[in-house]
Amino acid sequence: MKISKLYVVNFRNYNQCTLNVSSTINVLYGQNAQGKTNLLEAIYYGSFGLSHRTSTEEELLKWNCSEMAVGVDYESFTGNHAIKIKRFKQLERIKKEIFLDGVKVRPKEHYGSLNTVMFSPEDLQLIKGEPALRRRFFDMQISQTDPIYYDLLLKYNRVLQQRNKLLKDLREFGGKRDILFTWNKEFCSLAAKITKKRLLALEKMEKIASTIYSSLTSNKEEIKVAYELKGNSGNLVYPSSIDQCSESFYLGLLQEREQVDILRGNTGIGPHRDDLQILLNGMSIKSFGSQGQQRTGALALKLSQLEYVKQEIGEFPILLLDDVMSELDNQRRSQLLLFIDGRVQTFITVNDKELIPELANNAYFKISSGAIEEA
Ligand code: ATP
Ligand code: MG
Repeated sequence: MKISKLYVVNFRNYNQCTLNVSSTINVLYGQNAQGKTNLLEAIYYGSFGLSHRTSTEEELLKWNCSEMAVGVDYESFTGNHAIKIKRFKQLERIKKEIFLDGVKVRPKEHYGSLNTVMFSPEDLQLIKGEPALRRRFFDMQISQTDPIYYDLLLKYNRVLQQRNKLLKDLREFGGKRDILFTWNKEFCSLAAKITKKRLLALEKMEKIASTIYSSLTSNKEEIKVAYELKGNSGNLVYPSSIDQCSESFYLGLLQEREQVDILRGNTGIGPHRDDLQILLNGMSIKSFGSQGQQRTGALALKLSQLEYVKQEIGEFPILLLDDVMSELDNQRRSQLLLFIDGRVQTFITVNDKELIPELANNAYFKISSGAIEEA
């Protein structure tokens, strides 16, 4: 995929701004707090309809403004496309509209049309942070190329909420438990489908991530990723086959823990509790990896997302690299550029443009106080 134009209106520190793009590698450089990350955030917003660094959309609106818009024109193997997202107030209510090629669409129709992968300093949390972050990363990766998976997640979350409400009602008011059975069946059917898709995706992603990690470290280190499934009584299960996580497997777990779930008023097992276990040379990278190894691990996961999307849909997504260059040593930096080399349209932010070796087809944009100047 290739972006040809990005435009923003009242987005973060930008009034109205257009970025015309023709190159593969686009370097956004400038001093701190000028609006470099904001531009990557705008591309990400155009791609997913949300920000990579806040869940409060209000923050994206330029201060004291009541409406904003982001538009991205891009080319994919299906032709030329345009995405436009508008957020505005109508009769005191906030409205958000997404247009794909001029037609108003729902978020789930928008999702997966423009594929991007963002790597930013916050991604260190992919290694160091809570399981929820790894689940989100993985869910987004699969959803980008599999709309059925996206749909399964939406349904699963609805059923989970309803089951949890029922568990709380049973705890508060007692009553017959038979009604739980219908929800259990629905829950387990969705849980099994989601876990199977995750395991299939992980099988592919793990291979890619370990190849990338070795090449970033010139074959000196080896990374492995395993699916960590939460079982009963605090047990962790590492599924040995995809068929292991069937509907009846989940039904068994739920029946065993029914009393515990009612006491706690929530569902203690299922895809919403699972995690990815990441090992570096056989040891947990979260507990034993150095800062640089953890950063390289996070980068390998993100780059594997890139290759994964390529394998699934046949073309590379757009790569957004925020402040990565200053955080990697020389060798890892040049390995990263070798990896991208002409194949992946990339937007890189840096303070100092000298950090990016001059390649034939690089474009440089100077960002200062919410203005862009090609230079
Ligand atoms: P660094 O090199 O430090 O990462 P940057 O160029 O990436 O800097 P950004 O994070 O893109 O900087 O932009 C930060 C600027 O945007 C800050 O000055 C901040 O005050 C401003 N800003 C953030 N949100 C808004 C908003 N909603 N309205 C107006 N300005 C905003
Ligand atoms: Mg920044």
